[in-house]
Amino acid sequence: MDLVKLKEFLDSQNLPAFRFRQIVKNYYSGRYANFDQMTDLSLSLRSQLSSQFSLYSVVEEKIIGDQSTQKVLLKLEDNQKIESVLMNYDDWITACVSSQVGCALNCQFCATGKMGFIRNLNPEEIIDQIIYWNQKISPSFVGRVVFMGMGEPFLNWDNLLAALEIINSSTGLNIGARKISISTAGVADKIIEFANLDTQINLAISLHSTNQSFRETIMPIAKKYNLEELKKACLYYVNKTNRQLFFEYALTDKNTSQNDAQLLANFIHSHHLFFVNLIPLNPVEDGLDCATKEQQEKFMNSLDQLGIIYSLRRSFGQKFSAACGQLATNK
Ligand code: SF4
Repeated sequence: MDLVKLKEFLDSQNLPAFRFRQIVKNYYSGRYANFDQMTDLSLSLRSQLSSQFSLYSVVEEKIIGDQSTQKVLLKLEDNQKIESVLMNYDDWITACVSSQVGCALNCQFCATGKMGFIRNLNPEEIIDQIIYWNQKISPSFVGRVVFMGMGEPFLNWDNLLAALEIINSSTGLNIGARKISISTAGVADKIIEFANLDTQINLAISLHSTNQSFRETIMPIAKKYNLEELKKACLYYVNKTNRQLFFEYALTDKNTSQNDAQLLANFIHSHHLFFVNLIPLNPVEDGLDCATKEQQEKFMNSLDQLGIIYSLRRSFGQKFSAACGQLATNK
Protein backbone atom coordinates (compact mmCIF):
# COMPACT_ATOMS: atom_id res chain seq x y z
CA MET A 1 0.00 0.00 0.00
CA ASP A 2 1.29 3.45 -0.86
CA LEU A 3 1.61 4.99 2.60
CA VAL A 4 2.39 8.49 1.34
CA LYS A 5 -0.85 8.55 -0.65
CA LEU A 6 -2.76 7.04 2.25
CA LYS A 7 -1.54 9.81 4.56
CA GLU A 8 -2.46 12.47 2.02
CA PHE A 9 -5.91 10.97 1.65
CA LEU A 10 -6.56 10.80 5.40
CA ASP A 11 -5.33 14.38 5.83
CA SER A 12 -7.65 15.53 3.04
CA GLN A 13 -10.53 13.97 4.99
CA ASN A 14 -9.42 15.80 8.16
CA LEU A 15 -9.09 12.51 9.99
CA PRO A 16 -7.00 12.45 13.17
CA ALA A 17 -3.34 11.32 12.96
CA PHE A 18 -4.00 8.14 14.94
CA ARG A 19 -6.17 6.81 12.08
CA PHE A 20 -3.11 6.63 9.86
CA ARG A 21 -1.16 4.77 12.54
CA GLN A 22 -4.08 2.41 13.11
CA ILE A 23 -4.42 1.51 9.42
CA VAL A 24 -0.66 1.09 9.00
CA LYS A 25 -0.55 -1.18 12.06
CA ASN A 26 -3.36 -3.29 10.61
CA TYR A 27 -1.50 -3.45 7.30
CA TYR A 28 1.83 -4.58 8.81
CA SER A 29 0.07 -7.18 10.96
CA GLY A 30 -0.94 -9.08 7.80
CA ARG A 31 -4.12 -10.18 9.59
CA TYR A 32 -6.42 -8.54 7.07
CA ALA A 33 -7.04 -9.70 3.51
CA ASN A 34 -8.72 -6.39 2.63
CA PHE A 35 -9.94 -3.11 4.16
CA ASP A 36 -13.46 -4.51 4.69
CA GLN A 37 -12.08 -6.81 7.36
CA MET A 38 -10.76 -3.86 9.41
CA THR A 39 -13.78 -3.61 11.62
CA ASP A 40 -12.01 -1.12 13.88
CA LEU A 41 -12.66 1.46 11.11
CA SER A 42 -16.01 2.96 10.22
CA LEU A 43 -17.93 1.36 7.38
CA SER A 44 -17.71 4.48 5.24
CA LEU A 45 -13.93 4.81 5.72
CA ARG A 46 -13.49 1.14 4.84
CA SER A 47 -15.41 1.54 1.63
CA GLN A 48 -13.53 4.75 0.72
CA LEU A 49 -10.20 2.99 1.31
CA SER A 50 -11.29 -0.06 -0.70
CA SER A 51 -12.22 2.10 -3.67
CA GLN A 52 -8.97 4.10 -3.63
CA PHE A 53 -6.21 1.78 -2.42
CA SER A 54 -4.97 -1.77 -2.73
CA LEU A 55 -4.03 -3.07 0.70
CA TYR A 56 -1.14 -5.13 -0.72
CA SER A 57 1.02 -4.46 -3.74
CA VAL A 58 1.68 -8.12 -4.59
CA VAL A 59 -0.71 -10.82 -5.78
CA GLU A 60 0.13 -14.51 -5.83
CA GLU A 61 0.32 -15.92 -9.36
CA LYS A 62 1.84 -19.32 -8.75
CA ILE A 63 3.37 -21.10 -5.79
CA ILE A 64 5.44 -24.29 -5.82
CA GLY A 65 7.60 -26.09 -3.30
CA ASP A 66 7.74 -28.66 -0.57
CA GLN A 67 8.00 -28.64 3.22
CA SER A 68 11.41 -27.02 3.32
CA THR A 69 11.29 -24.53 0.43
CA GLN A 70 8.48 -22.68 -1.32
CA LYS A 71 8.77 -20.25 -4.20
CA VAL A 72 6.07 -17.83 -5.24
CA LEU A 73 5.63 -15.80 -8.40
CA LEU A 74 4.09 -12.46 -7.41
CA LYS A 75 2.42 -9.98 -9.72
CA LEU A 76 2.89 -6.27 -9.01
CA GLU A 77 0.36 -3.54 -9.74
CA ASP A 78 1.98 -2.69 -13.09
CA ASN A 79 1.89 -6.41 -14.05
CA GLN A 80 5.64 -6.85 -13.57
CA LYS A 81 6.53 -10.05 -11.76
CA ILE A 82 9.00 -11.04 -9.08
CA GLU A 83 9.84 -14.21 -7.22
CA SER A 84 10.21 -14.68 -3.50
CA VAL A 85 11.28 -17.76 -1.55
CA LEU A 86 10.45 -19.15 1.88
CA MET A 87 12.88 -21.52 3.56
CA ASN A 88 11.63 -23.49 6.50
CA TYR A 89 14.55 -25.26 8.14
CA ASP A 90 16.92 -24.73 11.01
CA ASP A 91 15.47 -22.67 13.83
CA TRP A 92 13.92 -19.85 11.88
CA ILE A 93 11.59 -19.47 8.94
CA THR A 94 13.48 -17.35 6.43
CA ALA A 95 12.07 -15.23 3.62
CA CYS A 96 14.38 -14.52 0.69
CA VAL A 97 13.12 -11.32 -0.88
CA SER A 98 13.68 -9.52 -4.17
CA SER A 99 14.71 -5.88 -4.32
CA GLN A 100 14.38 -5.23 -8.06
CA VAL A 101 12.49 -6.56 -11.08
CA GLY A 102 15.40 -8.11 -12.99
CA CYS A 103 18.97 -6.92 -12.44
CA ALA A 104 21.44 -4.84 -14.38
CA LEU A 105 24.56 -6.64 -13.19
CA ASN A 106 24.37 -9.68 -15.47
CA CYS A 107 26.34 -12.15 -13.36
CA GLN A 108 26.97 -15.20 -15.54
CA PHE A 109 25.70 -17.74 -13.02
CA CYS A 110 22.41 -15.98 -12.32
CA ALA A 111 19.03 -16.32 -14.03
CA THR A 112 17.89 -12.87 -12.83
CA GLY A 113 20.92 -11.26 -14.47
CA LYS A 114 19.84 -12.74 -17.80
CA MET A 115 16.53 -10.82 -17.58
CA GLY A 116 18.24 -7.42 -17.58
CA PHE A 117 17.08 -4.58 -15.34
CA ILE A 118 13.39 -3.65 -15.45
CA ARG A 119 12.79 -1.49 -12.39
CA ASN A 120 13.40 -0.99 -8.69
CA LEU A 121 10.89 -2.25 -6.14
CA ASN A 122 9.45 0.36 -3.83
CA PRO A 123 9.58 -0.22 -0.03
CA GLU A 124 6.00 -1.55 0.10
CA GLU A 125 6.71 -4.08 -2.65
CA ILE A 126 9.70 -5.31 -0.66
CA ILE A 127 7.91 -5.64 2.69
CA ASP A 128 4.74 -7.04 1.08
CA GLN A 129 6.77 -10.14 0.16
CA ILE A 130 7.32 -10.76 3.88
CA ILE A 131 3.71 -9.96 4.77
CA TYR A 132 2.64 -12.34 1.99
CA TRP A 133 4.63 -15.19 3.59
CA ASN A 134 3.40 -14.30 7.08
CA GLN A 135 -0.16 -14.65 5.82
CA LYS A 136 0.65 -17.90 4.05
CA ILE A 137 2.16 -19.60 7.10
CA SER A 138 0.04 -18.01 9.86
CA PRO A 139 0.09 -18.53 12.84
CA SER A 140 3.82 -19.06 12.22
CA PHE A 141 5.75 -16.07 10.93
CA VAL A 142 8.94 -15.14 9.16
CA GLY A 143 11.84 -14.89 11.63
CA ARG A 144 14.67 -14.06 9.25
CA VAL A 145 14.91 -12.04 6.05
CA VAL A 146 17.65 -12.31 3.45
CA PHE A 147 18.00 -9.97 0.48
CA MET A 148 19.25 -12.64 -1.89
CA GLY A 149 16.33 -12.72 -4.31
CA MET A 150 16.11 -10.86 -7.59
CA GLY A 151 18.17 -7.69 -7.95
CA GLU A 152 21.15 -5.92 -6.40
CA PRO A 153 19.83 -4.35 -3.16
CA PHE A 154 22.56 -1.71 -3.00
CA LEU A 155 21.49 -0.34 -6.40
CA ASN A 156 18.04 0.33 -4.94
CA TRP A 157 19.53 2.09 -1.94
CA ASP A 158 16.82 4.53 -0.78
CA ASN A 159 14.01 2.02 -1.10
CA LEU A 160 16.14 -0.64 0.58
CA LEU A 161 16.78 1.60 3.59
CA ALA A 162 13.11 2.56 3.84
CA ALA A 163 12.10 -1.12 3.70
CA LEU A 164 14.73 -2.11 6.28
CA GLU A 165 13.43 0.49 8.69
CA ILE A 166 9.92 -0.97 8.50
CA ILE A 167 11.12 -4.58 8.67
CA ASN A 168 13.22 -3.84 11.74
CA SER A 169 10.91 -1.41 13.55
CA SER A 170 8.91 -2.58 16.58
CA THR A 171 5.92 -0.80 15.06
CA GLY A 172 6.62 -2.45 11.69
CA LEU A 173 7.42 -6.12 11.10
CA ASN A 174 9.59 -6.25 14.24
CA ILE A 175 12.34 -8.49 12.86
CA GLY A 176 15.63 -7.98 14.72
CA ALA A 177 18.51 -6.42 12.78
CA ARG A 178 20.71 -9.48 13.41
CA LYS A 179 18.06 -11.61 11.70
CA ILE A 180 18.31 -9.59 8.49
CA SER A 181 21.02 -10.13 5.87
CA ILE A 182 21.85 -8.20 2.73
CA SER A 183 23.89 -9.68 -0.07
CA THR A 184 25.70 -7.46 -2.56
CA ALA A 185 27.66 -8.30 -5.68
CA GLY A 186 30.25 -5.81 -4.46
CA VAL A 187 29.07 -2.22 -4.87
CA ALA A 188 32.09 -0.88 -2.97
CA ASP A 189 30.93 2.67 -2.23
CA LYS A 190 27.64 1.39 -0.83
CA ILE A 191 29.50 -1.12 1.39
CA ILE A 192 31.18 1.90 2.97
CA GLU A 193 27.88 3.77 3.32
CA PHE A 194 26.33 0.64 4.82
CA ALA A 195 29.14 0.42 7.38
CA ASN A 196 28.49 4.05 8.29
CA LEU A 197 24.85 3.25 9.12
CA ASP A 198 26.05 1.56 12.33
CA THR A 199 23.45 -1.16 12.00
CA GLN A 200 23.51 -4.74 13.26
CA ILE A 201 22.12 -5.98 9.93
CA ASN A 202 24.38 -8.67 8.42
CA LEU A 203 26.24 -8.18 5.19
CA ALA A 204 27.40 -10.78 2.68
CA ILE A 205 29.47 -10.26 -0.45
CA SER A 206 29.01 -12.37 -3.59
CA LEU A 207 32.69 -12.93 -4.26
CA HIS A 208 32.92 -16.12 -6.37
CA SER A 209 36.46 -15.51 -7.54
CA THR A 210 39.55 -13.68 -6.32
CA ASN A 211 41.12 -13.76 -9.73
CA GLN A 212 40.45 -10.28 -11.13
CA SER A 213 40.26 -11.21 -14.80
CA PHE A 214 38.07 -14.28 -14.22
CA ARG A 215 35.82 -12.36 -11.82
CA GLU A 216 35.31 -9.76 -14.53
CA THR A 217 34.12 -12.46 -16.91
CA ILE A 218 31.53 -13.87 -14.51
CA MET A 219 30.61 -10.65 -12.70
CA PRO A 220 30.86 -7.58 -14.95
CA ILE A 221 30.54 -5.30 -11.89
CA ALA A 222 34.13 -6.32 -11.08
CA LYS A 223 35.25 -4.02 -13.92
CA LYS A 224 33.78 -1.05 -12.06
CA TYR A 225 34.88 -2.10 -8.57
CA ASN A 226 38.01 -4.23 -8.83
CA LEU A 227 39.11 -6.66 -6.12
CA GLU A 228 41.46 -4.16 -4.51
CA GLU A 229 38.71 -1.59 -4.20
CA LEU A 230 36.25 -4.22 -3.00
CA LYS A 231 38.72 -5.44 -0.37
CA LYS A 232 39.33 -1.88 0.80
CA ALA A 233 35.60 -1.33 1.27
CA CYS A 234 35.26 -4.68 3.08
CA LEU A 235 38.14 -3.82 5.42
CA TYR A 236 36.51 -0.49 6.13
CA TYR A 237 33.27 -2.35 6.95
CA VAL A 238 34.80 -4.80 9.42
CA ASN A 239 37.00 -2.18 11.06
CA LYS A 240 34.07 0.20 11.45
CA THR A 241 31.48 -2.34 12.61
CA ASN A 242 33.58 -5.08 14.19
CA ARG A 243 31.10 -7.50 12.62
CA GLN A 244 31.85 -10.66 10.65
CA LEU A 245 31.70 -10.30 6.89
CA PHE A 246 30.61 -13.29 4.82
CA PHE A 247 31.93 -13.95 1.34
CA GLU A 248 29.82 -16.23 -0.84
CA TYR A 249 31.83 -18.42 -3.16
CA ALA A 250 29.89 -20.57 -5.64
CA LEU A 251 31.87 -23.69 -6.54
CA THR A 252 32.17 -24.00 -10.31
CA ASP A 253 34.52 -25.98 -12.52
CA LYS A 254 36.40 -22.73 -13.25
CA ASN A 255 37.20 -21.27 -9.81
CA THR A 256 38.28 -24.31 -7.81
CA SER A 257 41.92 -24.86 -8.81
CA GLN A 258 44.83 -24.89 -6.36
CA ASN A 259 45.71 -21.39 -7.56
CA ASP A 260 42.12 -20.20 -6.92
CA ALA A 261 42.35 -21.58 -3.38
CA GLN A 262 45.61 -19.67 -2.83
CA LEU A 263 44.14 -16.40 -4.17
CA LEU A 264 41.05 -16.85 -2.00
CA ALA A 265 43.22 -17.53 1.04
CA ASN A 266 45.26 -14.37 0.39
CA PHE A 267 42.04 -12.35 0.25
CA ILE A 268 40.44 -13.91 3.32
CA HIS A 269 43.61 -13.66 5.40
CA SER A 270 43.35 -9.86 5.09
CA HIS A 271 41.11 -9.79 8.17
CA HIS A 272 40.11 -12.17 10.95
CA LEU A 273 36.44 -11.16 10.52
CA PHE A 274 36.34 -12.34 6.88
CA PHE A 275 34.55 -15.70 6.45
CA VAL A 276 33.82 -17.85 3.43
CA ASN A 277 30.54 -19.57 2.61
CA LEU A 278 31.07 -22.16 -0.11
CA ILE A 279 27.98 -22.95 -2.17
CA PRO A 280 27.89 -25.69 -4.81
CA LEU A 281 26.73 -23.73 -7.88
CA ASN A 282 23.02 -23.90 -8.62
CA PRO A 283 22.76 -24.46 -12.36
CA VAL A 284 20.94 -22.01 -14.68
CA GLU A 285 20.47 -22.21 -18.44
CA ASP A 286 23.57 -21.08 -20.39
CA GLY A 287 25.38 -20.51 -17.09
CA LEU A 288 28.54 -21.99 -15.56
CA ASP A 289 28.93 -25.64 -14.59
CA CYS A 290 29.01 -26.72 -10.98
CA ALA A 291 32.33 -28.12 -9.74
CA THR A 292 32.34 -31.92 -9.60
CA LYS A 293 32.34 -33.58 -6.18
CA GLU A 294 36.03 -34.32 -6.67
CA GLN A 295 36.84 -30.69 -7.58
CA GLN A 296 34.91 -29.52 -4.53
CA GLU A 297 36.77 -31.93 -2.23
CA LYS A 298 40.16 -30.91 -3.61
CA PHE A 299 39.36 -27.23 -3.27
CA MET A 300 38.24 -27.65 0.34
CA ASN A 301 41.37 -29.68 1.12
CA SER A 302 43.48 -26.84 -0.28
CA LEU A 303 41.59 -24.31 1.85
CA ASP A 304 42.12 -26.53 4.91
CA GLN A 305 45.84 -26.60 4.24
CA LEU A 306 45.89 -22.83 3.81
CA GLY A 307 44.16 -22.38 7.17
CA ILE A 308 40.92 -20.97 5.79
CA ILE A 309 37.80 -21.50 7.88
CA TYR A 310 34.75 -21.90 5.69
CA SER A 311 31.26 -23.31 5.80
CA LEU A 312 29.71 -25.38 3.05
CA ARG A 313 26.17 -24.20 2.58
CA ARG A 314 23.47 -26.71 1.82
CA SER A 315 21.40 -25.68 -1.16
CA PHE A 316 17.63 -25.90 -1.06
CA GLY A 317 14.98 -25.48 -3.69
CA GLN A 318 17.03 -26.48 -6.74
CA LYS A 319 14.28 -28.66 -8.10
CA PHE A 320 11.92 -25.66 -8.18
CA SER A 321 14.62 -23.25 -9.43
CA ALA A 322 14.26 -21.51 -6.07
CA ALA A 323 17.90 -21.70 -5.05
CA CYS A 324 20.41 -18.82 -5.09
CA GLY A 325 20.84 -17.36 -8.56
CA GLN A 326 17.92 -19.26 -10.06
CA LEU A 327 15.16 -16.67 -9.70
CA ALA A 328 13.75 -15.19 -12.88
CA THR A 329 10.30 -14.38 -14.22
CA ASN A 330 10.88 -14.76 -17.94
CA LYS A 331 11.27 -18.54 -17.99
S1 SF4 B 1 23.66 -12.53 -8.69
FE1 SF4 B 1 22.57 -10.80 -7.81
S2 SF4 B 1 23.70 -9.04 -8.61
FE2 SF4 B 1 24.28 -10.75 -9.92
S3 SF4 B 1 22.82 -10.67 -11.64
FE3 SF4 B 1 21.95 -12.03 -10.07
S4 SF4 B 1 20.60 -10.74 -8.89
FE4 SF4 B 1 21.99 -9.39 -10.01
